[in-house]
Amino acid sequence: MRERRVWLTRRARPEVRDTRMVVVLREDASAEERQAVSAVLSDAGIAARAVRWAEHDLYIPEAALSPSLQQSLAALPAVERCLAVESPFVLASRELHPEKSLVRVGHAVFGGAEPVLIAGPCSVEDEAQINEAAEAAAAAGAQVLRGGGFKPRTSPYSFQGRGLEGILLLEAAGARVGLPVVTEVMEPALAAVVAEHADMLQVGSRNMQNFPLLRAVGRTGRPVMLKRGFASTLDEWLLAAEYILAEGNAHVVLCERGIRGFDTHTRNVLDLACVPLLSRLTHLPVIVDPSHATGQRDLVLPMGVAAIAAGADGLMVEMHPRPDEALSDAAQTIDAVTLRALATQAHCVRAAMLAAQSPDEPASPPAKTRQPAARLG
Ligand code: PEP
Ligand code: MN
Repeated sequence: MRERRVWLTRRARPEVRDTRMVVVLREDASAEERQAVSAVLSDAGIAARAVRWAEHDLYIPEAALSPSLQQSLAALPAVERCLAVESPFVLASRELHPEKSLVRVGHAVFGGAEPVLIAGPCSVEDEAQINEAAEAAAAAGAQVLRGGGFKPRTSPYSFQGRGLEGILLLEAAGARVGLPVVTEVMEPALAAVVAEHADMLQVGSRNMQNFPLLRAVGRTGRPVMLKRGFASTLDEWLLAAEYILAEGNAHVVLCERGIRGFDTHTRNVLDLACVPLLSRLTHLPVIVDPSHATGQRDLVLPMGVAAIAAGADGLMVEMHPRPDEALSDAAQTIDAVTLRALATQAHCVRAAMLAAQSPDEPASPPAKTRQPAARLG
């Protein structure tokens, strides 16, 4: 008998996805009319999440809606329309929101014509250090100052950061040089207080799927930079972003910071393919952190430039006035001179790409999957 071999193939990602119906309410619907929608859903045993998004009230059901239920909903006076969305990440998808989102932090616009450069030390160490770093960042043309107060260190015996005191020093340093600031928040209970002192909140790689934290930063309404978990797929990352968006906070920027590989020469593996890929999947701006991605300061400039060439909306880099003295992540920290070179080269690459773009070239890579027409504003 001939041997029959069955090859088990693993598909990189499912081609067929469940379609989710999103119920969009009319803006002028009365409270009673809205109540009728939730009554129809709950009578059918369907739990649905009420979300305010792009000036619309939506219901995003947890389960598929039968055709007859869709018809009953569509007939209600409060319902403007029912939309079919194939992406599991509804609000982050290009299906619901075809145009690229712009996220404003101070004068910086993520997703706009200019790449946004975020620079500053891994950790805020003291007043002099963060002030010097702020001056160097501003002089190099960075638009946002970074610095960690609450640090997610692998070892409990490493420098843990200066906490809220460090964030106050960062806020003051940013104000001195006229730059908005971004800093990490690690605990849901601290999201509101950190949001009082920072223009943008960072959710770090280790916390990408800390769902209570995602909800808490979402509720602050502050712009959020969501770093990719070091072992997370793009779908997991976008669903983490969805938690923030589902709180009604549309100001989310994704930050690729490398994923875990097997080669110890670099700290992580910078997944640059995710940059054009994400621009197909989501309207959210995407930036790249070549510092944590490589772990080596010599690689920060070339990989930062490569990220801009791949279409990144900006970069975040660790920079210290005296990199060798940095209390955390010294090996991947660049100096002010390298930061200036990176800023210049990043802008040159972006300008060259825009100048060389032919009129018939698509702005983003052609989609492999169906791209529906414009949906919500
Ligand atoms: C950081 O940016 O300070 C940081 C800790 O990065 P990550 O979460 O990507 O490790
Ligand atoms: Mn760091």
